[in-house]
Amino acid sequence: MKIKTKLTLGVGLLFLLIILLSLVGAKYINALKADSENILVANYNSLEYSRNMLVALDDGSEKAYQKFDLNLQNQEKNITEIGEKEITAEIRNSFEQYKSNKLDRSNQANIRKDIFRLMDMNMQAIQRKAEVAKATADKALFWIAIAGTMCFLIAFILLVNLPSNIANPIKELTESTKQIAAKNYAERVHFESHSEFGQLAKSFNTMAKKLEEYNNSNLAKLMMEKRRIETLINNMHDPVIGLDENLKVIFANEEAIKISGLTHAELIGKSAQELAIKNDLIRSLIQDLMFDETGSGQKQQPIKIFSENKESYFEKETFHISITPTGETGSKLVGHVIFLRNVTTYKELDFAKTNFIATVSHEFKTPISSIKMSLQLLENEQIGNLNDEQKKLIYSIKEDANRLLKITGELLNMTQLESGNIQLSILPSDPNEIVLYALHATKTQADQKHIHFEINCPDPITKVQADYDKTAWVLTNLISNAIRYSYDHSTIYISIQQTSSQVQISVRDTGQGIAPQYKDKIFDRYFRVPGTKKEGTGLGLAISKEFIEAQGGQISVDSEFGAGSTFTLTLHIAS
Ligand code: ADP
Repeated sequence: MKIKTKLTLGVGLLFLLIILLSLVGAKYINALKADSENILVANYNSLEYSRNMLVALDDGSEKAYQKFDLNLQNQEKNITEIGEKEITAEIRNSFEQYKSNKLDRSNQANIRKDIFRLMDMNMQAIQRKAEVAKATADKALFWIAIAGTMCFLIAFILLVNLPSNIANPIKELTESTKQIAAKNYAERVHFESHSEFGQLAKSFNTMAKKLEEYNNSNLAKLMMEKRRIETLINNMHDPVIGLDENLKVIFANEEAIKISGLTHAELIGKSAQELAIKNDLIRSLIQDLMFDETGSGQKQQPIKIFSENKESYFEKETFHISITPTGETGSKLVGHVIFLRNVTTYKELDFAKTNFIATVSHEFKTPISSIKMSLQLLENEQIGNLNDEQKKLIYSIKEDANRLLKITGELLNMTQLESGNIQLSILPSDPNEIVLYALHATKTQADQKHIHFEINCPDPITKVQADYDKTAWVLTNLISNAIRYSYDHSTIYISIQQTSSQVQISVRDTGQGIAPQYKDKIFDRYFRVPGTKKEGTGLGLAISKEFIEAQGGQISVDSEFGAGSTFTLTLHIAS
């Protein structure tokens, strides 16, 4: 039953019973009032008249007779009982006779006897009516008691049931709501009634069930996604390692475990910093993270790993993972993912290519040198005179042979650098001598284009710590480039500047310059600015950079597109 109906019924019934009680009470009080009035008016007055008549009769005076007559008249008007009228008439009759003959004592005795009869009759009537009144009172008491008991019962039932009926479900609902708030979505309320609370419980349980389903489906979805990602990562052929923000290993795929030389249990959940103490690979993987060398996705030199009885090369890429927590604005670092791309195949191909180039360049050098020697003999006309046409041809062959020699030289240098076979002999060297060597080597090339040099070299100058041959090669390459990329009849400025610890040799030309977007790329191997018409390999600057950096120096470019470029070598002063 609904609470509202219960309340309406309970309170309504109580209200009706109170009305009934009031009506019953009023009715019986009225009945009792009527009964008592009846006794008083009908019988008590008769008794009073009778008593007055008796008193008057005993008195015997004239005044008393008048009083007797008055009371008798009143009695004649107050006839209420059966037979009372006859007795009253007899009294009247006897009284009239007594008045005419006062000496006749029998009349007085008759009057007295009739009055007593009248009194007796009224007394009996009073007694009878009193019993009726008592019965009425009993009846009233009975009905009032019944109505009162019912009122009491209903009030009692309401008192016992209503507070618990209302408070208990509210209490249970409050508890369950707290459980739901604490994410215990399996919580249900159990008051199964047809009241409003029953409906509320039903709605609450539906809500809890839906929340549970939603939560479970989300959890299942998340677990599914987690498993999917784990499977994906595990099936990757490249090793992947995930670290949390405190550098604890949170996941590693099969490949990563294999190359680490550790077991799953030894790796997962362990601090990478602790593992790094004993494990070289982990150390090299987290080196940049430990020393806070940030920069997501930065590529570094391939790492050589010996695993499963073979050498493998891996290119490491570290990604720093940051998220913006819900409700917050700033992002927070939550971990790092290290990808190791297996580049062994490329590395092997690269080795093969380097070896091939090295062999070819080496094999080319001897025939080119012999071509050059033959050309020298021809030029010297020791084996006969040459006409102008032949001289031109010889000159052109010599040019090509020189170019070929330069290319093979560059390729050989490159292969040395790539295979790590570069041999440096770093000794105190005179920068002026290096400049003079480079100028001498490029003189013919400059003369052909009528290029003039302007040299600003302080003499004497402090010696630099450098490999003479390699630095001379680099400077020759820079001057050669400046000549090649300058216009005819222009000037190339060569200067040496000394600071407290360094010497800078710069080569400035007023040629075409380099567009800003290519400035960083020109030092890459095989890179040539698109549209460059001059012949070349794109290796000269790459080799120069590696030669100079291997000596602890630096090479840089400053260029204005269309106005010229300045290449600067920085070398350390010899101590
Ligand atoms: P290359 O054999 O092509 O000259 P380099 O490594 O020496 O190879 O130079 C790379 C590229 O840089 C060249 O192709 C050219 O486009 C550009 N470059 C080098 N030096 C200069 C310069 N002085 N002025 C303009 N461009 C230059």
